[in-house]
Amino acid sequence: MNSRGKHAVVLGGSIAGLLAARTLSDHFQEVTILERDAFNADGQPRKGVPQGSHSHGLLAGGLRALELMFPGFAAGARERGGEVDHDIGDFGDWYVGGVPTLRVRSGVRGMLMSRIGLESYIRELVLRRDNVAIATGRVARGLLGDAQRVLGVSVVDRDGTHLPSTFEADLVVDATGRGSQLPRWLKDLGVAAPREQRVRADVIYTSCYVRRKRSHLGGESALIVTPPPPSRRGAAVLAVEGSRYIVTLSGYLGEPGPSDYAGMIEYTRDIQPHALYQLLCDAEPLSEPVQMRDPESRWRRYDRIARFPQGLLVCGDALCSFNPAYGQGMSVAALESDALAGCLRQGQTRLAPRFFRAATAILAAPWAVAVGGDFAYREVVGERPFGTALLNAYFARLHRAAGKSAQVALARLRVTHLLAAPHTLLTPGIIARVLRFGGSGAAELRLAASATGS
Ligand SMILES: Cc1cc2nc3c(=O)[nH]c(=O)nc-3n(C[C@H](O)[C@H](O)[C@H](O)COP(=O)(O)OP(=O)(O)OC[C@H]3O[C@@H](n4cnc5c(N)ncnc54)[C@H](O)[C@@H]3O)c2cc1C
Repeated sequence: MNSRGKHAVVLGGSIAGLLAARTLSDHFQEVTILERDAFNADGQPRKGVPQGSHSHGLLAGGLRALELMFPGFAAGARERGGEVDHDIGDFGDWYVGGVPTLRVRSGVRGMLMSRIGLESYIRELVLRRDNVAIATGRVARGLLGDAQRVLGVSVVDRDGTHLPSTFEADLVVDATGRGSQLPRWLKDLGVAAPREQRVRADVIYTSCYVRRKRSHLGGESALIVTPPPPSRRGAAVLAVEGSRYIVTLSGYLGEPGPSDYAGMIEYTRDIQPHALYQLLCDAEPLSEPVQMRDPESRWRRYDRIARFPQGLLVCGDALCSFNPAYGQGMSVAALESDALAGCLRQGQTRLAPRFFRAATAILAAPWAVAVGGDFAYREVVGERPFGTALLNAYFARLHRAAGKSAQVALARLRVTHLLAAPHTLLTPGIIARVLRFGGSGAAELRLAASATGS
């Protein structure tokens, strides 16, 4: 192993910060996580992670990365009430664009757990490392150093009991999520803020827990409804610890969400499949509905800053956040941490450009999936990747074909779970099946195929 750095500081003690700390603990003598919140012992979501009240799916690519970081991860999750060992292609119903996906045995296992349960489980695993500590109630306010090198971070107490202080570090990692102030902090050091790619789908999420009965959803653990545009209403029902489902309704393009449980039932009345409405009618609600608005996906292009200061990295939602409907953020954070481990094994020289290059390679696929999907709505605004209209014509048919062809369903499953690159949906074999099973529009598909050179 390369010689260890002395001290690394991670800003933000949520999923991305915890996973970064796990990786850094192999390469630094000491790792300190600075977190604004205190952690709740009562299993309630905390202020800094409001999305904790909403359904969170962990993708198979993310689970695989977590198993590498914490051998036995899924087994430990099972002991904490998580549902593990189901086949990701055969554990629930998934409607995309109004079409039920064919169930397939993929041979890849998945995991279901609440966002709150998952974070506290990961925190427990990370804190088993002797050289990792979390300081709570600490709010990062800016960076120490200059445009060439970051030397640490300045911090204030959340409750104001202590005077402002500083933490010196060989490496500072920003994992403060979507609200990251890093662009402003960089400006203070004389470094240009990154260009931002933004795509605005403006989704309003409404969630609550319900008690799970064996008879619900025909005994299945999940039901996911990705709405067929122009319909704006989707849903995710996922089994979580404590014999519960978390039910999240998602309204695209600012579609208002319901404010109470009766409203949630009403909201789902016309959503297909009807099983969703029936579940809500029958189930006992265990919490008040909670709402959250997620305006946009945003990718801050730190990889394109010519001279990014040494001693500084960014990861997780602070680097790139996606429309949550695709369930990618936590899994991407796990893959980034794995990539960081690879970079650190090569040493710490020119760490930032190497890490950002690796992170960009990871982000390209989920970004394409999320913003490509969002642009199926004409009203979505933002930076449209080249060829989006053509690809979406193709994907509309691919979703139909996934209801009839096991090969197409499996290929799409592997892409959405971050196990395969999107171009694997454009191989001659898949295109042929999409043409055969995807319904009308063959001329547009031939155009899509020739545009991609397949
Ligand atoms: C409604 C919704 C649903 C989602 N569903 C899914 C899903 O199904 N699957 C999935 O993988 N992802 C999902 N996500 C995304 C997922 O929540 C995030 O990707 C994941 O939590 C990792 O984020 P993070 O750790 O980068 O940031 P966050 O989880 O936002 O955490 C940031 C942390 O930094 C702390 N902090 C902020 N500022 C400071 C500061 N100045 N000083 C110190 N600490 C600070 C905060 O208190 C917080 O703990 C969803 C997101 C939303 C909004």
